[in-house]
Order: sequence, then structure tokens, then C-alpha cells
Amino acid sequence: MAKGILLVADGLGDRPLKELDGKTPLEAADIPNIDKFARESVCGQLDTIGTGVRAGSDTAHISLLGYDPYVYYTGRGPFEAAGIGMDVKQGDVAFRCNFSTVDDNMVITDRRAGRITEGTDLLAEAVNGMMIDDMQILFKESVAHRGALIIRGANLGADITDTDPHHENAAVLTSRAKDPEDAASARTAYAVNEFVKRSYALLKDHPVNVKRIKEGLHPANIILPRGGGVGPSMAPFAEKYGIKGACVSETGLINGVAKYVGMTIYNTPEATGGYDTDCIAMAKNIVKALETHDFVLCNVKAADVAGHDGNPKGKIEMLAKLDEMIKYLMENTPQDTYITFTADHSTPCNLKDHSGDPVAIAMWGPDVRTDHVTEYTERACALGGLGRIKGSDIMNIMTNLMNVQEKFGA
Ligand code: ZN
Ligand code: ZN
Repeated sequence: MAKGILLVADGLGDRPLKELDGKTPLEAADIPNIDKFARESVCGQLDTIGTGVRAGSDTAHISLLGYDPYVYYTGRGPFEAAGIGMDVKQGDVAFRCNFSTVDDNMVITDRRAGRITEGTDLLAEAVNGMMIDDMQILFKESVAHRGALIIRGANLGADITDTDPHHENAAVLTSRAKDPEDAASARTAYAVNEFVKRSYALLKDHPVNVKRIKEGLHPANIILPRGGGVGPSMAPFAEKYGIKGACVSETGLINGVAKYVGMTIYNTPEATGGYDTDCIAMAKNIVKALETHDFVLCNVKAADVAGHDGNPKGKIEMLAKLDEMIKYLMENTPQDTYITFTADHSTPCNLKDHSGDPVAIAMWGPDVRTDHVTEYTERACALGGLGRIKGSDIMNIMTNLMNVQEKFGA
């Protein structure tokens, strides 16, 4: 059976930049292998969610996998929690959390608890598993001061205000349902407030914090949830497409989206998510995943970091790594492999944030109808044979090329 790879260079799309004499980073970069890839591909422009829509990485990837983000995205929480290995179920309300430091008056003195790196597993143990009335609390630590919370119970909503005031020297806020008539969200808000209060009671004199105070470090004496969402009911990827999917990604959030739809997560220890990441290690992991899976989603993060940093040079340096990665994949994947190379959105260096500009896309493989595009840039690909497509088209095109799609009709 044919194999498929969807390689997403996060935030790769850009705009013409003054410091590059009006070129985009893709136009300024020397990327012979990616250009060769484009020559052997059918190319086009992609709007991951919709024309002109500024996509987040999470909503963009949901759309790239063929799920409607307007239906399934209720907040970052469920995907964040799934990404660190928590078992989020439909109807759960999940949050991303910070370990923070508060004083005796519940005023936040450090939102990140001194960027704590050790002992959060023990702190998590102290709060995990408690019951708040009939609601079950699940909590797991993530990297540094981060963690995720699941509230499990009947009739929960997620339309609530945050307890985290998002800046220091402010008191912890009381969560409320945004709509006073919304009883399900009011129930969640009550549980969140209770959880925050109890986390302080359980953590303030915890041995990990006693030790931190003795060492002059900020104690992680409270947990503040935010970004809550109700666990959506999404059809598993394997059922939706009849193929087995895996994910090789550097970010917990993308892993979380993939995990949520039942894809296998392949971690790459050498992948840092930064400029120093090892793209070849990720490529090797993709090839490994293809031995037992039909389809691999891969996200390489650092082009987006460069965009947010306003660093075109950094984006161009990342492109050199991506160029080697594409070469490796073209040479080392099974013969019958289709590779799509694109971005999840533009992160223009002069905007330092995501924009709604379309991104370049190229689809490569044995039976693609190649076009006249000879290089992989935003402007060159705009003239390609795919035309201008949406994220929701990608899995249709891929499964068609891979010849695994069921016929619609007789
Ligand atoms: Zn992104
Ligand atoms: Zn970004």
C-alpha cells in the first residue's frame, strides 16, 4: 500500500521583507532540494482554515487532518492534556495550568513559580485524584511550571472566566460562567475555584515547597487553570480514512491533536522545537513510523519561532535544515510514498505573529500530475496545478493519490 507524509513547517509562510530586498525568506533562501521537490510535485496555495483566516497552530492542524476546527475546537485544554499523555474523554473539561506562587492574601507574586523544573511530579501527586462533590479531578505535570487539569463528571461546560489574572501583583480571580443561565459551565466554574483553593491548601506546606523556600526559590504553592475546553467527539483518524496514522512533532499541542484522534506519537529526543533542532533525527523517526503506519504527520516548529522573533535570518537558517530533511525523505522513504510539504499558517517576520496569508504547498510522489512550478516559494507555488486549496482538501487529495479512498457513489 502507498504511504503518506504530511510535513508541516510551522509558520513558514511570510511576506516580502524590506531587509531581504522585497523577498520572502523562502525566496531568499538557498534550498536546492526543496526546489527539486517542487519541480517533481504538483504545487499550489493553501488556506489552512479559510481564505484570510489567521490560524492558530492547533486549529490549523485539526483542519489539515480534515476535521472542522469550528466544530471540534472548544479550547486548547483538551489537546494540551492529551499531548502530555492524559486520557481525555468526550465531555471532560480540560485546562492548561501553571504552577504559580501566591502570598498569604492570594496575590500572585510569580506566575511561573520561579520556572520550577524539579518536583512538580510530587506536587501533581498531591492534587491528582481528588473528588469535588461528584466530579473527579485529574492533574498531571508537564514541562517546567506547566501542567494540565481534567474535570470529569456529568453536565460540564467550559464557557467560564479564568482564575489566572495573567499578570503578577494581582489576586487570583474567581471563575464564573460567562452566561449566568449556563448551569453546566457554572458547575465547572465551581469545581475550578474549589480546585484552586484546595491546591493552595495542599501545596503551600508540601515538602517540595518547604525545600524551595529554604533555598530562596519561589514555592509552587498554587495551580491556576486556563484555556478550558470540553473534550470533543472526534472520529478516530483510522476510522475516518481507513489508514493507520502516526505523528512526529516537537510540540505538545500538535501531539495532543494527533493523540486525540488516535494517532501514534513518536517522540524524537533530538527535536528541541528550537533553531538547534535535529531535522534528520525527525526524518529518521518518520521513516521508522512508516514501517508500521500508513501516514505520518510531522510538524517542525522553528520557522514559526523565527517569525515570532522577527528573525528572517533564523527562518532562512531553518530552511537549510528543512532542505536536508526533504532530501533525506525523498531518498529514504518507500518507493510508493506521497509527501506533502506545506505550512500551517504564515508567521511573517515583520508582523511577529500569525497572519491569514495563504502558504505554499507541494505534493510529491510517483503519480502526481506535475506542473510548471520550478521553485518552492509563496509566489511560484501560486501558479501551480493545485490552485488555491483549503486545509480540509488535503486528506482527500492525499488519500486519493494513495488510492485508499472509498468511492462516493456508484
Ligand atoms: Zn503553527
Ligand atoms: Zn506561532
